[in-house]
Amino acid sequence: EQEVAPEKEYLDSPPLAGANVMNVIVVAAECAPWSKTGGLGDVVGALPKALARRGHRVMVVAPRYGNYAEAQEVGVRKRYKVYGQDMEVTYFHAYIDRVDFVFLDSPVFRHIENDIYGGNRMDILKRMVLFCKAAVEVCWHVPCGGVCYGDGNLVFIANDWHTALLPVYLKAYYRDHGLMIYARSILVIHNIAHQGRGPVDDFFYVDLPGNYMDFFKLHDPIGGDHFNIFAAGLKTADRVVTVSHGYAWELKTPEGGWGLHGIINEIDWKFQGIVNGIDTKGWNPKFDVHLKSDGYTNYSLESLQTGKARCKAALQRELGLPVRDNIPVLAFIGRLDHQKGVDLIAEAMHWIAGQDVQLVLLGTGRPDLEDMLRNFERQHYDKVRGWVGFSVKMAHRITAGADVLLMPSRFEPCGLNQLYAMMYGTVPVVHAVGGLRDTVHQFDPYAETGLGWAFERAEANRLIDALGNCLKTYRNYKSSWEGLQKRGMMQDLSWDNAAYRYEEILVAAKHQW
Ligand code: ADP
Repeated sequence: EQEVAPEKEYLDSPPLAGANVMNVIVVAAECAPWSKTGGLGDVVGALPKALARRGHRVMVVAPRYGNYAEAQEVGVRKRYKVYGQDMEVTYFHAYIDRVDFVFLDSPVFRHIENDIYGGNRMDILKRMVLFCKAAVEVCWHVPCGGVCYGDGNLVFIANDWHTALLPVYLKAYYRDHGLMIYARSILVIHNIAHQGRGPVDDFFYVDLPGNYMDFFKLHDPIGGDHFNIFAAGLKTADRVVTVSHGYAWELKTPEGGWGLHGIINEIDWKFQGIVNGIDTKGWNPKFDVHLKSDGYTNYSLESLQTGKARCKAALQRELGLPVRDNIPVLAFIGRLDHQKGVDLIAEAMHWIAGQDVQLVLLGTGRPDLEDMLRNFERQHYDKVRGWVGFSVKMAHRITAGADVLLMPSRFEPCGLNQLYAMMYGTVPVVHAVGGLRDTVHQFDPYAETGLGWAFERAEANRLIDALGNCLKTYRNYKSSWEGLQKRGMMQDLSWDNAAYRYEEILVAAKHQW
């Protein structure tokens, strides 16, 4: 029997924000389900809806990379100067789950949905300049439900370096001139590894008064004297948020701050961590649409053992692995790069291949690591599958069918896959870093507490130790294993908590001069 998510539950909740109802505009380079390369897209697809459920008026502004069936053209055209060139923008609008989604259309965004951050440095910069210039003004030009947002109680939430120009433009073009004086900006750090660095001369392309140069100029041992968009955003935003407490701490250290730790320490007074929530509608084993066919099944806490066993068998069948109930299925899902530590799994491969386990890896990214996945599969065809590709459906099915999720990330701002895994009764084995440290508490066999295994150093032997203990528990201590699964599933990982924390910051920013 298959259930669908109760739409009403999400739409009829009363406004909670009371007197502090804000106009919130979330601006980002990606927004699921329309565009997504990783966690950022998921956050931008879900946080706005959670803020709207609290009673705020919420808009999302994202580029229109493709034709989105839900969004209609609004018939407004605006022109912006980018590198001295006049560029036209049109707008598409959809109202979904109480959120106004506005998509900016321009030839520079069209048809790059599979390569959102591709192109040479100047192309990328040009897209971001146009996007941020236009995004600040969307509230004036695009009527949503017949009314514009206006600039009272208005807070922009910008995300990562791609939109870090927005707080700068808000200040330079408007606030410095007595316009939009009630508007505030929050900049969210999802990943500090990408900063919009370039030579100092790039400053002339962002079209700002000369005295703004200092916001962008950074000297550090990595880049020397250089131009840095993230730096300027961090300095000019009214508040800065990052996606976990662990990462907030790491960003202040030379190892974790990637050259921006100095600035982050300086702005500590306006900086804090909020752990991401997850979309508990899309990522919920009870309603998951990807589990409704091909032998998979929806399941919940009550039907965990039978439901998960069916998903595991379906996964084994779909991937052509031996269908065996008692063999632990390990999984890895993620971008294939240095950050995600998939090479630690490679180092541990010899050990893993000697165990009675199955291993399923799903990812895209660095070509050498993609080849590595293919080689794993070829060399250990009896137990390993390396799926190279970006498949949301397979990500869901693997999360449901696997027993253990491996996440040996070298750094991880928040990490969503471990949260999804726990919702599906899949036990995470992670490197204790950033958001993984916040969210996966180490299993204690004596107290029967904890949610998984969290090892202390990003090294293959540490991963093997942790995984070894995990497999021992899986094989020999069924009730402990079920306890781990159930504690994971019973957590409230929804956006509602995080949305409340964001709301506190929105309100604090509003009252600050
Ligand atoms: P990051 O944002 O650093 O990539 P997160 O764990 O925060 O990492 O989010 C990753 C998101 O991208 C998850 O929703 C995950 O399921 C998804 N994802 C990553 N790689 C793939 C892939 N190859 N196919 C499908 N989904 C993927």
